[in-house]
Amino acid sequence: MATDATPSTAGLNTWIEVSESAYAGNLAFFRALVGDDVELSAVVKSNAYGHGLLEIAGLAARHGADSFCVHALEEAVALRRAGFEQDILIMGHVPLARLEAVMRHDCRVVLYHLESARRLAEIASEERPARVHLKIETGTHRQGVEGDDLRQLLGFLETAPSVSVEGVYTHFANIEDTTDHRYARRQSERFRRALRQIDDAGFRPAKRHAACSAAVVLFPETHFDMVRLGISQYGFWSSKETRLSYRNLARGRGDGEAAASAADGVLRPVMTWKTRISQVKRIPADAFVGYGCTYQTTRPTQLAVLPTGYADGYDRKLSNAGHALVRGRRAPVLGRICMNLTMVDVTDVPGVEVEDEVVLLGRQGEQEIAAERLASLVGTIPYEIVARIAADIPRLVVA
Ligand SMILES: *Cc1c(COP(=O)(O)O)cnc(C)c1O
Repeated sequence: MATDATPSTAGLNTWIEVSESAYAGNLAFFRALVGDDVELSAVVKSNAYGHGLLEIAGLAARHGADSFCVHALEEAVALRRAGFEQDILIMGHVPLARLEAVMRHDCRVVLYHLESARRLAEIASEERPARVHLKIETGTHRQGVEGDDLRQLLGFLETAPSVSVEGVYTHFANIEDTTDHRYARRQSERFRRALRQIDDAGFRPAKRHAACSAAVVLFPETHFDMVRLGISQYGFWSSKETRLSYRNLARGRGDGEAAASAADGVLRPVMTWKTRISQVKRIPADAFVGYGCTYQTTRPTQLAVLPTGYADGYDRKLSNAGHALVRGRRAPVLGRICMNLTMVDVTDVPGVEVEDEVVLLGRQGEQEIAAERLASLVGTIPYEIVARIAADIPRLVVA
């Protein structure tokens, strides 16, 4: 877990450094946005978006997050075993056969159908109620309940005092992919209607929530009692559109261009993914590099071999397309990325040696490889770039 001294990386081929100061700064920005009365919940599903579940949970707890949201029961159990006593909301499906573990570990759990409600009513008691957060369908059309199904579910819950409706929430479908927020507003309307329906049925859920990162930033009216902060606690904007919308907001508040530019700098990426050079070699002109002979040199070339590949989560689509940072310079990936190895061109980088530290994602000196850049190279979003970094790579908390 977190230590104050930078841990040694001498024995590692590849590792992730997690910056405590960047994380703390991001969280402080969001705390200021939501205020002290709104529960700030750190979404740490998928190994904290690849940043390391326990490492990030430690930083989140230390720097002012109130609670956690996870996808799976297993993630909640891992947090409890590590000693975290904060509230944890399990947002994904828990198999009926495992709902007892939700109770045992005192977690909040999403509820959107009668089957889970009935099972929870059986295993919970009024002394130790199940803490459910109703998930309302407002237009994303994945998990959620609405209309008659909601009425029926509420009808059952009225007869089940051992199931406590602690929360009600929804999730936006189209908030980060556009600067046109009409669909999101419509979802907000539907959510408010469902809240009235729930209120009319006599329930007084203490935690109403809707906001993911983009909504936290762009729509204060969606903060309600709690926000679910995912990608942006790690220093990434949800999308270019979100960054742009936030810039426009800053400008529109009357703060002008300077504020709009400053808005770009409010988030700092937390992760730096590093590896070290395992071999340096000179190869002639016209030589092929890697499987499939997809790259042929046009000049005598200094090649560095990196002990990291697609099995580590370094996307194979970065073959002949990505860059790594070596001694503060950009070194192009040559040929295909292998399962565990990647070759880069260091011909123009002076003084390269075996075991030099290399950055695959993040900053080195003046250079940066941004998750957004890697995402656009491989046709995905920053979320996938970081979430797919292999869980067995060590995550080290640094200052
Ligand atoms: C993942 C997730 C979030 C966090 O979204 P970000 O865009 O990463 O902030 C919030 N709510 C739900 C239901 C989620 O699945």
